[in-house]
Amino acid sequence: TYNFAAGPAMLPVEVIAQIKADLPDYKGSGMSVMEISHRSPLYMDLYEETKADMLEIMGLDPEKYDVLFLQGGATQQFTLVPLNQARKFHRIAVVDSGHWAQRAAEDAGKVPGMSVDTVATAKDNNYTAVPKIPVEFTHDYDYLHITTNNTIMGTAYRDAAVPKLDLPLVADMSSNFLGEQYDFSKFDLIYAGAQKNLAPAGLTVVVFKKDWVHKNDDLAGLFDYATEAKKKSALNTPPVFQVYVAGLVLKWIKSKGGLKGIEALNQEKAKTLYDCLEASDLFASKVDPASRSLMNVPFVTGDKELDQEFVKAAAAHHLLNLKGHRLVGGMRASIYNAMPLAGVQALCDFIQEFEDQHK
Ligand code: PLP
Repeated sequence: TYNFAAGPAMLPVEVIAQIKADLPDYKGSGMSVMEISHRSPLYMDLYEETKADMLEIMGLDPEKYDVLFLQGGATQQFTLVPLNQARKFHRIAVVDSGHWAQRAAEDAGKVPGMSVDTVATAKDNNYTAVPKIPVEFTHDYDYLHITTNNTIMGTAYRDAAVPKLDLPLVADMSSNFLGEQYDFSKFDLIYAGAQKNLAPAGLTVVVFKKDWVHKNDDLAGLFDYATEAKKKSALNTPPVFQVYVAGLVLKWIKSKGGLKGIEALNQEKAKTLYDCLEASDLFASKVDPASRSLMNVPFVTGDKELDQEFVKAAAAHHLLNLKGHRLVGGMRASIYNAMPLAGVQALCDFIQEFEDQHK
């Protein structure tokens, strides 16, 4: 069975096997990892190691960058980033590359006194390509917000499309976090819901440049990045199990050659799928090839009923969760890190088989 869901998504089989092996007795403690205290040395070691592995994989200096392991999803960060970081001008710039970028902008706009300017949009091309990220601005902004991978539309900014800015840069990387290489030092703050490439739902990662984040005394500690960092993300009870799984996934990424190795695998999977869609007379991807995501691949037949039939028939062939997002319809194959090439090949074989039957 291959699970093409957009999130919660597949975890690597090796990670699932490790969880099973560890479950009855975590590191000789006599307890499962779900039962250990977040104040215990066992957890503190796990936290430090997971944080160090993450920064190492991202090529970021632990002296300059910090990582928070929070809850509340990427959605909570739509509010927390402006609340913490838009303190000078109370004005932020956003790039509208799709649904989640719009949600982030909407929620930022609800922070009292905040102005939100859309400085680029993909509306004109119906979100089938990402808009160019501007480098010059007519106003003073606290930061620019982008969404690196548009989970619903299947578009993405590859590293080369992200400019070095004078303005602080914030990115929602939820759906391609650690799925491809970036020069992460171009970003001042990155956040991601973990349930796509990193861990089960319930963990949100925030990575930030230490010299950009300062304590805000008017914020409750739980919402203040500097306080959370000082408390090692354990101001309140952290999601211990999710952090543990993230730790296993990070070790798995290292075993694949880090982000270089992972990106090569993801490139091969994405090419296999886009090539098979291009070769097809029945199925098509509407995304501009220059903006194609390596992670989420929406496609259509152009006939809604046939799309539904395909999704149903695919599920009967153990190819699960291929229904497109309700906003766009059609199909979507999410092929995150844990999806093996064999899964993509099985999907391509089925696409071919379905097409042959519907000629
Ligand atoms: N941002 C992006 C790009 C997403 O794909 C999603 C969810 O799919 C979210 C934000 C919302 O994430 P969460 O459910 O963790 O709040």
